[in-house]
Amino acid sequence: MFSCEDVRAALSDYVDGDVSPDLRRELERHLSECRTCQVLYDTTRKTLQIVTNVGSFEVPEAASERLVTRIMKRLTATRHAPTPRS
Ligand SMILES: [Zn+2]
Repeated sequence: MFSCEDVRAALSDYVDGDVSPDLRRELERHLSECRTCQVLYDTTRKTLQIVTNVGSFEVPEAASERLVTRIMKRLTATRHAPTPRS
């Protein structure tokens, strides 16, 4: 059984789809039972999606850095919302 720490360590690989089927199953089982890791997973996934989308528009590096900083601030600010939209 995975601990939250294990999930955190594997999360970016999981978001990238870069995990074995066994690992994926363990992660998904933990995520289905652990609210904290669900939120963490959701945040990581959305942030990576946004960064990927921004990258495809060839935003200058400094501008995209500012954007990521703003996104991270917003995510942090809204992290305690009762029901995150998904
Ligand atoms: Zn957890």
